[in-house]
Amino acid sequence: MIEKKSLDLLKTLIGFDTTSFKSNLNLIKFIENYLNQYKIKSELIYDETKNKANLFATIGPNSSGGIVLSGHTDVVPVANQKWDTDPFQLIEKDQKLYGRGTSDMKSFIGLVLSRVPKIVEKKLSKPIHLAFSYDEEIGCVGVHGLLDLIEKKSIKPEFCIVGEPTSMEVVIGHKGKHAYSVKVEGLACHSGQAPFGVNAINYASKLIAYIDQLNKEKSINGPFDNDYEVPHTTLHTGLIKGGAILNIVPDLCEFEFEVRNLIKDDPLQLVKKIEDYASQKLIKDMHKVSSKTGISFNEKVNYPALDMSEDIDLVKKIKELLGNNKHKKVVYGTEAGLFKNRSNIPTIVCGPGSIDQAHKPNEFISIEQINRCSKFLDNLIDSH
Ligand SMILES: [Zn+2]
Repeated sequence: MIEKKSLDLLKTLIGFDTTSFKSNLNLIKFIENYLNQYKIKSELIYDETKNKANLFATIGPNSSGGIVLSGHTDVVPVANQKWDTDPFQLIEKDQKLYGRGTSDMKSFIGLVLSRVPKIVEKKLSKPIHLAFSYDEEIGCVGVHGLLDLIEKKSIKPEFCIVGEPTSMEVVIGHKGKHAYSVKVEGLACHSGQAPFGVNAINYASKLIAYIDQLNKEKSINGPFDNDYEVPHTTLHTGLIKGGAILNIVPDLCEFEFEVRNLIKDDPLQLVKKIEDYASQKLIKDMHKVSSKTGISFNEKVNYPALDMSEDIDLVKKIKELLGNNKHKKVVYGTEAGLFKNRSNIPTIVCGPGSIDQAHKPNEFISIEQINRCSKFLDNLIDSH
């Protein structure tokens, strides 16, 4: 059984199509109005287009300390996925709730909102802040505006919980990510005259092989953190396009690669190695044929790793409230690394639903997870 108030809120949130490339304002306005009913003021932080916004709201005193409950409002696209039901309509079936964002991560937001009356009733001595972002799914882009605001307020929250789907387990670490697109510009000519041209695909493949070599070195030499399923930093190329037809030496090849780093590793040092290899080795060779050729890098995503000690009081307290003494580190990134590293707020990730269902067709969350999260939030509020 799921509480009616929670179910109604989840239905409403899932009903807003907040795919990252679309506006999230209808959802944000809904939350603003909802909080207004309880006399809670929201601050909206818009993006440049004014089509998207973060929402920040404080319940309780305007003082330092307290906690931040945080989540992103955007979801990944449903295009090219085969869904059995309308992804933007919450469907309850076999003790599960189906819909885009049920796991990742509108259920957490809905459940936090369902507890607002309870929080308001309790005369808080320390604040509870709500922080809801946009554009997380395209690389933790939107949350920076939210962090600017929190830093400006100098409210120094004691800690933050990011409610990404962890099956309600405590996540104390995740890797950072730096992703780049690379443009290799060569010189076209008839393939029969190949030595007079600069083959962009060949040079791209040399650079990709070098990235893979760095990846191998990381897997052999580390550093390692055995709490992770993949215990070392990884480098990976995931997208490539180039060439027009076989009998032309291609003048353009573009690809994308990423570094997913442990906190002990400096991702920019690895990126510098790659850039140095391009400039000191490859571009030199390319320029022997034509100085108009080149290789350029464009940063696409950049967020830091999260690493919280399991020994600090916050982690112990959350485990106690959950009644679960375990913790883990995960391979996917979240905004938690930014809360911790940019704004210096101790942060863990803990939320309902499984990452296994996130981003997939027929995304769902089990009602058992909903109820576990509800109970956790009640315990958290009671202990606050
Ligand atoms: Zn997410």
